Amino acid sequence: MISVFVSGAAGRMGREVVKAVVNDPQTRLAGAVDRHLVGSDAGEVAGIGAQQVLISGDLEAALRDVQPEVAVDFSTPNSALPNIRAMLASGVRPVIGTTGLGPADLQTVDELARDAGLPVIIAPNFAIGAILMMRFAAEAAKVFPAAEIIEFHHDQKLDAPSGTALKTAQVMQEARGAAFSHVGGDGPESAAPGSRGAEQGGIAIHSVRLAGYLAHQEVIFGMAGQTLTVRHDTITRECYMPGVLLAVKKVRSLKGLTYGLEHLL
Ligand code: NAD
Repeated sequence: MISVFVSGAAGRMGREVVKAVVNDPQTRLAGAVDRHLVGSDAGEVAGIGAQQVLISGDLEAALRDVQPEVAVDFSTPNSALPNIRAMLASGVRPVIGTTGLGPADLQTVDELARDAGLPVIIAPNFAIGAILMMRFAAEAAKVFPAAEIIEFHHDQKLDAPSGTALKTAQVMQEARGAAFSHVGGDGPESAAPGSRGAEQGGIAIHSVRLAGYLAHQEVIFGMAGQTLTVRHDTITRECYMPGVLLAVKKVRSLKGLTYGLEHLL
């Protein structure tokens, strides 16, 4: 049984992780932390009945007390890096789903992991269908000269563009080996500056934030006379749990930072 600690246990993703860890025969819920609902039973908060694991308000103290093997974090973009530091300092292997970490943060995490002699997994998207979407987009990127990404998320999401959109643009550029051709048209003279979205490597990225969506992404490729769309939709947050459990089970066999679920499949 792998002992698993859940950080952000009162959040939407954290509650799903608590459920998944309790229901998997190979994992055990060892502890939980959050800034909300401190003192509540993590199982009750997740809707699966009391698990005798109370939500702590102090990550470092809780990790010291329970000494889990793995800690899963779905918290907030500002908390992820300090939480990773605290986990590594406590000898715990972090599995991070929190998005918003930039390239400099990832470099820092890799150095911290190597200094601590512990592995870290960070995956901006734990949904296996999203990993396939990126793989298919990378394939099409070798052929199509122009592409745009539209990502759609619920209105509570703090960061934009999504970690998945940035990662998709990155793998598309790597596969293409060159920038995509980008059409501008939203300069100062535009009636609505910003209409063409953000831009990375010639790929325009558009972020929609609306109640009603969970997490969705379209990658649209274009060339004369044809377009190709690759689209992934999440229906419930359960979709992330097979990926999270896979990371929890595999992290012990890794070294340094592993960025992206695709490296575990
Ligand atoms: P949420 O707001 O519902 O939950 C976040 C929780 O973290 C809250 O309960 C909050 O109180 C808690 N928190 C705040 N600061 C904390 C800290 N320092 N330590 C521990 N907990 C803290 O958000 P959510 O929808 O559950 O999303 C959480 C994160 O996961 C976001 O960054 C989101 O983008 C990301 N996400 C990633 C994936 C993926 O597949 N990697 C999927 C969905 C969401």
